[in-house]
Amino acid sequence: MTTDGSSNPDVVLVGGGIMSATLAALLGIVAPDWTIQVFESGAEVAGESSGPWNNAGTGHSALCELNYTPARPDGTVDPAKAVGINEQFQVSRQFWSHLVRAGLTDSPKTFITSVPHISFVTGADGRSYMRNRYDALAPQPLFPGLEFSEDATELTDWVPLMMAERSTKEAVAATRSLAGTDVNFGTLTRLLLDSSVDRGVQLHLQHRVRKVRRQTDGRWATTVTDLTTGKKRTVRSRFLFVGAGGGALPLLQGAGIPEIRGFGGFPVSGQFLRTRNPELVARHQAKVYGQAKVGAPPMSVPHLDLRLIDGEQALLFGPYAGFSPKFLKAGSMWDLPRSVRGGNLGSMLGAGIANIPLTRYLIGQVLQSTGARFKALEEFVPTAEQGDWELITAGQRVQVIKQDTTGRGVLQFGTELIVGAEGSIAGLLGASPGASTATAAMLTLLERCFPDRIDSWRPLLQEAIPSYGHKLSEEPALLAEVFADTTRTLELHG
Ligand SMILES: Cc1cc2nc3c(=O)[nH]c(=O)nc-3n(C[C@H](O)[C@H](O)[C@H](O)COP(=O)(O)OP(=O)(O)OC[C@H]3O[C@@H](n4cnc5c(N)ncnc54)[C@H](O)[C@@H]3O)c2cc1C
Repeated sequence: MTTDGSSNPDVVLVGGGIMSATLAALLGIVAPDWTIQVFESGAEVAGESSGPWNNAGTGHSALCELNYTPARPDGTVDPAKAVGINEQFQVSRQFWSHLVRAGLTDSPKTFITSVPHISFVTGADGRSYMRNRYDALAPQPLFPGLEFSEDATELTDWVPLMMAERSTKEAVAATRSLAGTDVNFGTLTRLLLDSSVDRGVQLHLQHRVRKVRRQTDGRWATTVTDLTTGKKRTVRSRFLFVGAGGGALPLLQGAGIPEIRGFGGFPVSGQFLRTRNPELVARHQAKVYGQAKVGAPPMSVPHLDLRLIDGEQALLFGPYAGFSPKFLKAGSMWDLPRSVRGGNLGSMLGAGIANIPLTRYLIGQVLQSTGARFKALEEFVPTAEQGDWELITAGQRVQVIKQDTTGRGVLQFGTELIVGAEGSIAGLLGASPGASTATAAMLTLLERCFPDRIDSWRPLLQEAIPSYGHKLSEEPALLAEVFADTTRTLELHG
């Protein structure tokens, strides 16, 4: 479908975050002759959620996040969700390895580094849940080498900063996987878009997409303002991806596709405490996830993360949830009210009524004092001192509100791919598990938007992602092969 790339590209990608960058890279493999234009409103790419300090940089593979391993009524743990998340991360690892081999960067360490992933709980109930979780995950081929400990001396070796001056009367338990990673999604986004630009993709920074509209010939007309000159122009493409993060909902609503009816968004802002004190950082070389407080949403599970960003090491603790009506950090206070339309009013109201505990939780988070915030950190680091930590504002998440089968609005914590107009437009709503699973999300997009081409693209995709079309959890030999290969190529811990 090659067309004149200047004002009529084949593809327009809205937003310069990890999702658009991943899609541009995948299209570079399956359709290298297609012309692509990317429009990003910020002065640089990855300025919103994909920016390294705007997210926690966890390579989500369910090695430590307890929300992916719910307890069943009988106390045993269901591993299914964790297995699925891990499989999706293996897809990302394979794609990144393929790109590294093709020259994406000389040093994969600029965007991915091995960091142990640890789950840590206190109390007798927590300890028994943790044992059951270990029993459920350890036999799974995707969780090799998972370790369990309830021994304070051993845990002092795993997480010295967290165990210092901790009461010896307190029951503690943890699991550890050395296969965990910290990912700088900002650098990765930049590398992916730089290499796309090198092969001819046009990236327009400081260009805000104002509206998208389908023409009678089936193409999408995207109207863009150049924020440096104020000039408007319209580009027409056969395919349009709205990878605008929090900005996706209003653009998809404006597109007028029926598939967006009933969807709404609920913005939740995030804050972290950060320390760069080298003495503290040296004593916490891991990502440690705890349990969410009762009534707290899954994205507010507390964690203390080693971060490796641009050669610097730091610790992040949080996230603390907050409320702001903006859909992007650089958004408008009118984002939330403007997103309420006739088509989603019912689901927005329904979700509001059904989620009063969440609303109460968020209000509590917003109103909490510095002291209360610090108390949560002290549960992780009993010796924490306020002077070492600064509060930083992270990215804005827009949680998806969607109608269930009865038409009732429900708040969701996952991601939702919206596809409309015979697959000529797609957009991504929501934020979890997020950047880590961008490759899997964009592969799903290719399958849903290009069903007539996907079979001919399959060999190319399998060359880049050998497990494409396979279930790694059911094919241990293939898993061993791709895991060893990605470990070597990405210079990770085996
Ligand atoms: C606090 C927090 C912690 C997180 N932790 C993790 C984690 O540990 N691991 C993980 O994998 N994921 C994590 N995530 C999720 C992850 O950050 C996101 O899922 C991912 O970055 C989303 O990428 P994106 O490309 O869709 O959106 P973004 O990175 O937000 O990019 C969208 C881009 O579109 C641009 N844009 C918006 N509207 C317009 C417009 N009209 N015109 C032009 N450009 C526009 C924006 O400026 C932005 O650059 C976290 C998110 C948050 C908020």
